This record gives sequence, structure tokens and C-alpha cells, in this order.
Amino acid sequence: MQRRKFIKKSGLTTASILAAPALASCKDDKKIEATTQSQTIKPIVICTWDFMNASAKAWEVLSDGGRAIDAIEQGVKVEEDDANNQTVGTGGRPDRDGNVTLDACIMDAAGNCGAVLALQNIANPISVARKVMEETPHVMLAGKGAEQFAYEKGFEKANLLTEKSKQEWLEWKKTANYETPINIENHDTIGMLAIDKNGDISGGCTTSGMAYKLAGRVGDSPIIGAGLFVDNTVGGATATGVGEEVVRTVGSFLIVELMRQGKSPQEACEEGVKRIMEKNKDRKDFQIGFIAMNKNGETGAYCIHSGFSYRQYSPKGHENIESQSFFQK
Ligand code: ASP
Repeated sequence: MQRRKFIKKSGLTTASILAAPALASCKDDKKIEATTQSQTIKPIVICTWDFMNASAKAWEVLSDGGRAIDAIEQGVKVEEDDANNQTVGTGGRPDRDGNVTLDACIMDAAGNCGAVLALQNIANPISVARKVMEETPHVMLAGKGAEQFAYEKGFEKANLLTEKSKQEWLEWKKTANYETPINIENHDTIGMLAIDKNGDISGGCTTSGMAYKLAGRVGDSPIIGAGLFVDNTVGGATATGVGEEVVRTVGSFLIVELMRQGKSPQEACEEGVKRIMEKNKDRKDFQIGFIAMNKNGETGAYCIHSGFSYRQYSPKGHENIESQSFFQK
């Protein structure tokens, strides 16, 4: 009942509604495959929260026939460059010492991936992560090494600490209270998943992490399997929220594996959040939101507290889809 209500609200099941009768009536595998193929929703892009501009940019790339990996990079860069977004890229809130440190990762349809951790002074960590993926034999570069690598690849030194974030940090220092609000006020990390016209899936995730974190703290967002995972034969998942808890369950990998076992993106996200809550039985003070997409372009989301949503662009148009939550309002 609960789920049906959500489905109605989100309008997410177009693909499954279309696919279900056809699949049921098909007897041989070939026919099933052909039917599923033609009903795949593509291109399509989704991202955590209602990041209209970022997803519109990604959609522009996809609808021009571009590759999912390019749509992801171009899309999330919009948020990295938006100084008003205080948890991604320029304008991000600093750590407790006043330094803005950025985390990002990217993964393509071939299973290649790259990540940067605690990167300072560089405005587009997603692009550096892509360079790590494409131009080094490594997956992750951290701190000074990542910064040095970025300069070598032609990235310019930038001041990421805006006056607004600086003033808020100075204010915060007066009490140095580590409690932060639950929703978008401090969790607007962008995780994005896309399928291009060829049916290939890629994903990316970029953040300045938790506001006023300890210097050197890294959350889930740049960790392949935790903040993001893509398997081109199954689908992808990405996360926002308290990264430590996502890392403990290897959340995005878990969700992709659950989809591999037959769960819908929606069911897989719900199970992902439930696993986290099983380890946090007495806690209500944190938020996590997952989004997922399978190979057919079906999507889903689930979170701990209401207030989380995701933006979706597909040939049907675009919408901000509210996620159902573990705790009701
Ligand atoms: N997941 C990010 C982190 O833990 C933060 C967030 O999404 O707000 O660094």
C-alpha cells in the first residue's frame, strides 16, 4: 500500500508498467530481450536533490547524442561552479580549520573509475577525478598529491572559500558545535547517474563533505562502492548524507548488487537504507538519501528522513521526484 502510494506520487514506474505485460506474455528469451531493449528509457539522467541546472546541462549533452560520461562531468560541474551551493566545489563550507577540501569520483560504462580525496584549491574535482581515471593507472589520488597532479594537468589554482562560507565558519567557531541540520541545508552533495543513447551508464559524485569536518576527513562521496557505483550490465547508484554510515554498508555497491539479484531500483534503495538503520537502531539524527537507476532506465530513491528528492530528465520531460522516507514526518 505504502509503496503503491509512492509509485503513484513519483510516476517512476513508466518503464516497469510498460515492460511488465510484454515480459509476461513473451515465452522465449530473445523476444524478451528485444522487448526490453525497445522499452528502455534513454537517454536519461537523474541526480540527488533538485539540481535543475546540473541535470539540464547533462540532459543537453545526452540529447545531443553525447556520451553518459561526458554528461556526468559537464552536469555536476555546474554545481561545482555554483558558489551558492555550500557543499559542492567553489563556495563549499570549509573544514574546522577553514580549508575547503573537495571529494569526487566518476565511473564509466567500462567499469573504469577515478577519484580525488581532500583536494584543495581546485574548482572542478570531478574533472580531476576523470583525469585520474583516464590518464593514470590509479583510481584514487588524495590531498597534496591530487593537487599537484591537477596542476600538472593544467588546472588552475582557485580560491574556493567564499566570503559567505568564511563568515559562517567564523560564526560557527564561536561555539564549534558539530551538530548540523538534517537535510539540504548541509547535504547537497550531487550524485548523478546517466544512460546515453547507446544504453551505456556512467555516474559521478562530488562534494565538499561535511561542514566543519576534521581536517583530512573523507566521507563516502569519492569512495567507489560507497558514494557511487556503476555496473553497465545492471545499473548504478549514488548517495548523499552522512558518509560514514554509507561507507559502513558500502551503500551504492550494495544497491547495485540488489538490483542484480532482481530488485527494482526502488526496492534496492529501500533495502540499502534499511541496512543502515539496522546498524543505527536508536539514531534518528542523521540523513542519507540514495538514488538508483537500472539498465532499463527505471529509477528509484529512498532516504531516512523526508525532504530528500531527485531531479530526473528523460524523453518524457523533467521532474523533481520526492523520495519516500524510512521515518515518516
Ligand atoms: N556524503 C557527503 C559526505 O559524507 C556529505 C553529504 O552528502 O552531505 O562527505
